Amino acid sequence: MKQSIKDLSLKGKKVLLRVDFNVPMKDGKITDDNRIIAALDTIKYIVEKGGKLILFSHLGKVKTEEDKKTKTLRPVAKRLSELLEKDVLFIDKTRGKELEDAINNMKDSDVLLFENTRFEKGETKNEKELGEYWASLGDVFVNDAFGTAHREHASNVGIASNLDSAVGFLMEKEIKFIGGVLENPIKPFVAILGGAKVSDKINVINHLMNISTKILIGGGMAYTFLKAKGYNVGKSLLEEDKIELAKEIMDNAKAKNVELLLPVDAVVSKEFSNDSEFRTCHIEGIQEDEMGLDIGLKTIELFKSALEGSKTVIWNGPMGVFEFSNYAVGTKEICRMLATLDATTIIGGGDSAAAAISMGYKDDFTHISTGGGASLKYLEGKELPGISSIKDKE
Ligand code: ADP
Ligand code: MG
Repeated sequence: MKQSIKDLSLKGKKVLLRVDFNVPMKDGKITDDNRIIAALDTIKYIVEKGGKLILFSHLGKVKTEEDKKTKTLRPVAKRLSELLEKDVLFIDKTRGKELEDAINNMKDSDVLLFENTRFEKGETKNEKELGEYWASLGDVFVNDAFGTAHREHASNVGIASNLDSAVGFLMEKEIKFIGGVLENPIKPFVAILGGAKVSDKINVINHLMNISTKILIGGGMAYTFLKAKGYNVGKSLLEEDKIELAKEIMDNAKAKNVELLLPVDAVVSKEFSNDSEFRTCHIEGIQEDEMGLDIGLKTIELFKSALEGSKTVIWNGPMGVFEFSNYAVGTKEICRMLATLDATTIIGGGDSAAAAISMGYKDDFTHISTGGGASLKYLEGKELPGISSIKDKE
C-alpha cells in the first residue's frame, strides 16, 4: 500500500505536488479545465493543512524552442487562481535563482506554480540531476498525476527517488478502483472492449482474459475477430496481420472458459462520415463497399443481457464511431445499461471516458479514469513507475 497524502504532516512544509495540468488549449485559452478542477481536492487539502504548495506539471509536447511559446502554463495559473479564489504565483522558470527565491519567500498555505516541466530536456529522460534538483526545492513530494504514471520522468520518478513521498487523492482513487479491481475483482466480472484497433489492446485483452468471466468486443476491433471467424467485413476497419492473433485470442478464451461475445449486427455505411446514408444489417449482410461503424440493436441487446447480474465491469474502447451522432447509439446504450447495474463500473481509456462524459454519464460510473495511456498500461497488468516509485506505507 502506498503512503497517502493523509499520512504526511504538511504544516509549514514545502510540498512539491506533481499534477496533471495538461489541459487542451487553443490560441492561448484553456478549452477544457476539467483536469484543473480534478486536482482541486488535493490542492485545497495541502493549503488547508498549511503546506507551502509548489505545483508543477507538463503541458503538451515540447520539441523546439518555438513550442515553448505556446506551451506555457501561465494561463493555467490564472485559471487555478480563479477556481481557488486565491493568489497563485506563477514563475516562468523550471530552475534557478528566481524560482528558488520565490519558494524561500513562501508563507504557509501559499501556492506557486512553476513552468512546464518539459521545458527541461532531462524531464522525459528522467535525468538524475534534474530529479535531484527538483527534489531539493521541497520537503515532501506528492504525486497526483495519474496521466503520466506510466512514464518514468524526472518530475515523478526522479523526485520520488529523492524525497519522502505520497500519492494524492486522484492517484489514490485510481489505485483503489483500477488497481483494486485487477487484483481482486468481484465476479461475475465482465470486460467490455472496443475502440479502434486490436493491436492497441492485445495486452489488455490478454491480461483481462485471466480474470474476467466474459469479454464483450465491439468497436472497430471487432471486425478483425469477425474476419477471423470467416465473415466478410467489407470496408470495415481491419488489421489483416492480426487475424491469426484474433483466432488465438478466441481459442485462448475457450480454453480458459471465458465467454467471448462478438457483434451479431452492425450499423454500416459506404462512407466514413455522418452525412452519408446508413443501415443496420446482420454481420453476414455487410456488403463489399460498406463499413461497420457501430454495433446494431441486436448486439446491444446481446451485450445488455450478458451484463445483467455482473458485479464488476471494466470498459475500454467505444462501441462505435461515437464522434458521429449516427454511430454513437451503441456506446450510449452501453452507458445507459451500466448506469442501472448494481456493480462496480469502471471506464479506463481516453476516448471511452470522453464519450461517457460527453453523453452525460459522468456520475453514473463508479470510476472514470483520468489517464488514457496510464489506464491502458494499468489494464495490461503492468507496474506503473509513477506509482511504484512512491513510498510504501509503513
Ligand atoms: P480508448 O481511447 O477509450 O482506449 P481507442 O483509442 O482504442 O479508445 O478507440 C477510440 C476510437 O475508436 C474512436 O475515435 C472511435 O471513433 C473509433 N472507433 C470505434 N468504433 C469504430 C469502428 N467501427 N470503425 C472505426 N473506428 C471506430
Ligand atoms: Mg484513444
